[in-house]
Amino acid sequence: MSGAMTVACRCGAVEIEISGEPVAQFYCHCDDCQIVHGGAYVPESVYPADAVRVVRGEPAAWTLKRNPRVTCRECGARLFIDVLALRLRGVNGYLLPPGRFQPQFHMQCQFAVRPVEDSLPHFKSRPARFGGSDETVDW
Ligand SMILES: [Zn+2]
Ligand SMILES: [Zn+2]
Repeated sequence: MSGAMTVACRCGAVEIEISGEPVAQFYCHCDDCQIVHGGAYVPESVYPADAVRVVRGEPAAWTLKRNPRVTCRECGARLFIDVLALRLRGVNGYLLPPGRFQPQFHMQCQFAVRPVEDSLPHFKSRPARFGGSDETVDW
């Protein structure tokens, strides 16, 4: 699972090169992801910011609070979010090839539209290594 891989939005206008392994992969249930993605929760594959490069196209960036979210101008696909304070880029897990998204936990479960019961940890906010409390919810 090493070496660079290239992923693209649905229309192909934007291509992203990802090098190396993810720092973490998880489902985010936060209310920002819900609104921006129009879904109950979002798979995210997080890498060091410099491991994720736009190699084709000029996607749009839009910032809700602090972190720019980057989207294809043509097909509207959500590409990644820049988590500036941690120098990370969270790539939309739906863009990855089959088998490359292997979630380790759920986070921001305090906002969950509906519980997703599985064997993964369910953090109320974020795990401690991403600035949270490690507190979990009871589902
Ligand atoms: Zn596109
Ligand atoms: Zn989120």
